[in-house]
Amino acid sequence: RTTPDFDQLTLATVPHYLASRPALRPRIDASALSSVVEVGDGNLNLVFIVRDAHGSSLVLKQSLPHVRTDPSWPMTRERSTREWVVLDTHERADAAHVPALFDFDQAHFVLAMEDLSDHDVWRSELNSGRVQGWAAAEVGRYVARTSFASSVFGLDPLEQKRLVARTVNPELCEITENLVFTEPYIEHEHNAVLPGNEADVDALRRDRDVLREIGLAKYRFMSSAQSLLHGDLHTGSVFVRAESGGRPASLRAFDSEFGFYGPTGFDLGALWANFVLAAARAEALGDPDRAAQILALPAALMEAFEAEFRALWPTRLDARIWADDALEALLGDIRRDAAGYAGAKAVRRIVGFAKASDIETLEPALREGAARGVLRAGRVLILSRLGTDSVEALSATVSRIL
Ligand code: ADP
Ligand code: MG
Ligand code: MG
Ligand code: MG
Repeated sequence: RTTPDFDQLTLATVPHYLASRPALRPRIDASALSSVVEVGDGNLNLVFIVRDAHGSSLVLKQSLPHVRTDPSWPMTRERSTREWVVLDTHERADAAHVPALFDFDQAHFVLAMEDLSDHDVWRSELNSGRVQGWAAAEVGRYVARTSFASSVFGLDPLEQKRLVARTVNPELCEITENLVFTEPYIEHEHNAVLPGNEADVDALRRDRDVLREIGLAKYRFMSSAQSLLHGDLHTGSVFVRAESGGRPASLRAFDSEFGFYGPTGFDLGALWANFVLAAARAEALGDPDRAAQILALPAALMEAFEAEFRALWPTRLDARIWADDALEALLGDIRRDAAGYAGAKAVRRIVGFAKASDIETLEPALREGAARGVLRAGRVLILSRLGTDSVEALSATVSRIL
């Protein structure tokens, strides 16, 4: 019998693959599998859920040499290594908020991790009208713990620089640099809006303050190395499971292949932007109460992030120069970054290449108004550096705009 080729896993080769991985032997019985299904719904990778006859299960995630949704767009398979290093680092800092990591096979670009099928993707929950408001504070604590632990406050400077070097992620950062910070503001084949929104996009592109702030935000994205980010922390990268029948609530951030050392506010801003999209959907569907509930999430996120960061601050490795009063200045900087990145990430989901189902699944008549609201709200967030840094005040303005 020939050895199966694991370069591109298939439903047929997964059992052989599992048998070839000693690290997975205690996790699953490869000789008694009951089901293997491919469930990937993202833009990039294959995701298999594997179950055995004894009730154990796990997930295999394998990168393809190209974008899943566009085979003509090549994409480095090294992104698997980045996802592994980020997940491993984040698991050490905050195991409760990421999938448990079981194995990484660098030769075949395969990550094995905990099966979280009993959770739901937060974006799907929001789209179905279930806000899961408790999750905002949980994910705020995740960003606080992982950013603190990977920053120079939590890591020895030599170790921190070694980790910076190991997590350089040029190809995936370039995607963000182009799709978030450049393409929406220029004519580009990746862009698409409804005809009724073209004037809204033009208004944004003619706004010199917006262009300057986006340029500066891009510069900070490309030059700051505050913490090891998740890098793609939208509501589609977060699993939630509400408390029920004595089983505690659970939140897990997954899909960290865009991770790199960047500005901490970028992860917070990604979530914030997706709350704006979800609120715009609720408004479009005639549910202002739910929109209001969703627009409370940015403050819940940021308050929990800041509270957890403050709680960790006394554990910083060097208090000689990073005194207590540096903390609030630092948190203010992160808050302003988060608001600006929220605006940028909201705009890109309307104008640019990767849209969000929150808005896309609205019928066109509702979609146009929702998109206009998000673009105007995005502008306010992009410009917020020049004004207030109160998250509540910004959400109140966003609420009036939507
Ligand atoms: P991509 O990088 O291609 O976006 P993701 O990591 O986001 O891949 O995974 C795609 C989908 O696969 C998720 O939206 C989710 O439905 C499913 N999935 C991913 N990881 C797990 C997991 N650990 N447990 C269960 N389902 C998962
Ligand atoms: Mg994904
Ligand atoms: Mg489910
Ligand atoms: Mg991904």
